[in-house]
Amino acid sequence: MKKFVIIGSGTAGLIAAGMIKSYWGDKVQVTLYYDANKKNISVGESTTPLIHSFLVAMGITTKELIRDLSATIKLGINFKNWIPETEYFHGFTEADIFHQPDYSSALYSIPNDCYDGGVLFNEATTTIPNEDFNYEHGLHIDTQEFSNYMFERLKNKIEFVDDVAEKINVKDNRIESIDFRDSGNITADFYIDCSGFNSLLIKNLKTQWIDITEHLPIDRAIPQQIPYDFDEVPSYTLAEATDNGWIWQIPIRNRYGTGYLYSSKFTTDEEAREKYNSWLLEKFGTGLKTDRIIQYKPGYYDQAWVGNCLAIGLSSGFVEPLESTGIHIIIQQIHDFINLNSRLNFLNLDRKVFNQRNLKTYEVIVDFICLHYNTNRSDSDFWRYMTDNKKEWVDDIDEKCRKEFLDSFSITEQSFWHLDSYIQVAKGLQMFDKKSVGAYLDMQSNKEEILKIMKEYHESNAQSKRFKNKKMSHKQIIDSIHK
Ligand SMILES: Cc1cc2nc3c(=O)[nH]c(=O)nc-3n(C[C@H](O)[C@H](O)[C@H](O)COP(=O)(O)OP(=O)(O)OC[C@H]3O[C@@H](n4cnc5c(N)ncnc54)[C@H](O)[C@@H]3O)c2cc1C
Repeated sequence: MKKFVIIGSGTAGLIAAGMIKSYWGDKVQVTLYYDANKKNISVGESTTPLIHSFLVAMGITTKELIRDLSATIKLGINFKNWIPETEYFHGFTEADIFHQPDYSSALYSIPNDCYDGGVLFNEATTTIPNEDFNYEHGLHIDTQEFSNYMFERLKNKIEFVDDVAEKINVKDNRIESIDFRDSGNITADFYIDCSGFNSLLIKNLKTQWIDITEHLPIDRAIPQQIPYDFDEVPSYTLAEATDNGWIWQIPIRNRYGTGYLYSSKFTTDEEAREKYNSWLLEKFGTGLKTDRIIQYKPGYYDQAWVGNCLAIGLSSGFVEPLESTGIHIIIQQIHDFINLNSRLNFLNLDRKVFNQRNLKTYEVIVDFICLHYNTNRSDSDFWRYMTDNKKEWVDDIDEKCRKEFLDSFSITEQSFWHLDSYIQVAKGLQMFDKKSVGAYLDMQSNKEEILKIMKEYHESNAQSKRFKNKKMSHKQIIDSIHK
């Protein structure tokens, strides 16, 4: 039996514990230490469809999360005012419903003026498909409620210990043991660092921090929950740009989770509080009621797995939550770790592969988030900076979109977003030129064939055929399930 010690009972610690125990069962002994006086970050309420790979492992269904908790369905993200006075939708894509590997049906629809958004969901609505959740969807969750729920489900399977890790003993770049305040000196076969921004274990090992502030300078967030009596429940997260950052707005069954994100380089905390307060008053008729400001370093460790220690979640890094990737990364990390060690024999041999994949994940996320800032805005110091400091990749993609089109060759194979996602964002940011797309098509030797296939894809597009006439009120479905 292998002994795992996990530090931290936030979403990362609980997901790691749940997946490890569900995969390896009696072959592992899992002890999770947490500091009851150090609260979880308690934000992170908008998820991607990858959450289901964790839920399935735990035997939890969407319906149960709606019935037992305050979960709601998420079909995508609505981006508002990124180019002022405009909005666009990035909806989820079901990978197996279409198999065009290199092109998007937008190749047909943009030149023909009939582009209507993503393949599955094309606009922000308060409806969801009436298909018993048998379609690609994420969830909005109340993170604290979700943690309590997971705690209850896991408490007979793993050992939870409320104790503070005080000293990390390291030898030869491996963790030898951890000194806890009450439990004393503890050893394990493997250590998982889920201690949040503290990076309690990993920061003691040799690994390099990759700072991404140059391109993504937002480093502060003020979160506030707003109790809300919904007439209709949005089936999307709202990401609304402000003149110095952006605001998230996430609908949970009986409240919104909102948060104001800004960069300390351009905005003082006082200014941010004032602006957020005005936004809250205007939108909800209620002012700012919290003193809390979350501060973080945007970036990640180049090696999240060092020796016998793996950092998962915020302890491994953080990129601003514009595409709700935090929980996604956690599941991806623990998934990769389990897959690479499926027989539980060595627990140290596949670090290189893991770290390469993890690094790529972060790089792809950073690139994609940077693409969202390709607005060419110059109406504040913040936006001028974002426009003047674009990543080379964004400049390249921008030029490609404006002069040609985006095909899958422009996007790394390891991206977890499909080509269609990049096109939704680029289209939302007005990066395509109808004539250039036509010229791009003209350059293809098999233009007619590509066009025919893309036209067919467009016409049989899931959103127009499968879901358009099959959507129901999100609220009605939730109310009918929730007790
Ligand atoms: C502003 C913001 C918005 C976000 N929005 C989203 C989103 O919409 N979607 C999404 O997927 N993700 C989002 N995230 C990311 C998401 O919140 C995290 O990925 C997720 O909550 C996991 O956090 P964690 O478990 O790594 O850390 P935490 O929740 O901070 O947990 C850390 C744990 O470590 C324990 N601990 C710390 N020190 C010690 C010690 N010495 N001894 C013992 N225990 C210790 C604490 O008690 C705690 O249990 C957001 C993050 C931020 C900052």
